[in-house]
Amino acid sequence: MHKNFMKNIWDIFLDLIYPPDLYCICCGKIIDSTRTYRLCNECMDGIKWANGRLCAKCGKLLSASNPGNICFNCREHPHQFDHGYTCTEYGTHERAMVFALKYHSRADIGVTVGEIMADRILAEYSLSELKDMYDYVLPVPVHRSKRTARGFNQAEVIARSFSDRTKIRCDADILIRVRETHVMRSLGPDQRRENIRGAFEIRTRRIPDIEGKRVLLIDDIYTTGATVDEIAAVLKRAKAEGVDVISFASGADMVK
Ligand SMILES: [Zn+2]
Ligand SMILES: [Zn+2]
Repeated sequence: MHKNFMKNIWDIFLDLIYPPDLYCICCGKIIDSTRTYRLCNECMDGIKWANGRLCAKCGKLLSASNPGNICFNCREHPHQFDHGYTCTEYGTHERAMVFALKYHSRADIGVTVGEIMADRILAEYSLSELKDMYDYVLPVPVHRSKRTARGFNQAEVIARSFSDRTKIRCDADILIRVRETHVMRSLGPDQRRENIRGAFEIRTRRIPDIEGKRVLLIDDIYTTGATVDEIAAVLKRAKAEGVDVISFASGADMVK
């Protein structure tokens, strides 16, 4: 009761501050309501959509200097997940959207990001194909302390919106983050892996739900894959049949 009341207040609040379809979620410019996403033309053009040669493993855009079909990062680091998808390459516009979503409590941006991610995978597979491919959409969990501070888990907001459009069941009650980790930004790939080790678990009573299941993990940003690899390993120890990953933005394909 209390929770629903709070949710309604929250929705009303968001509608007052950010009337749907009125402002570009990237630059804040006023837009009309005829657009596919709440983005102005300049931002739609400025976003680096992942159209072109993609890494056969993680799905990120391959740089022109990469002669192969695997990105530099995937060549160096074998992954625990099976296959990755992404919508964009992480740059100015992508950063603005994710930053506002995470640090300015703009949960409404997460809804649009989830729609964009759903359309990305629906461009490749039909709804019925997706139904056969995945049993669960699982958001990458944040630690309880971060969730309390932020008011929501941005990956969960994205995952629920993604699930509405793709009809794959979203479950935010399977994975938990048991340990808070250092900020990853300044860390290299090996340090990231070290930093994230043991940070995730499956709720004990949910472990049986994972056996034989095919999972699609959802996160906002994919950098080296350390986070999703750690979760994929946890899920596979619980006998998940497959673990794929989808993100909104991926770091550029670069030699580190
Ligand atoms: Zn804009
Ligand atoms: Zn890759």
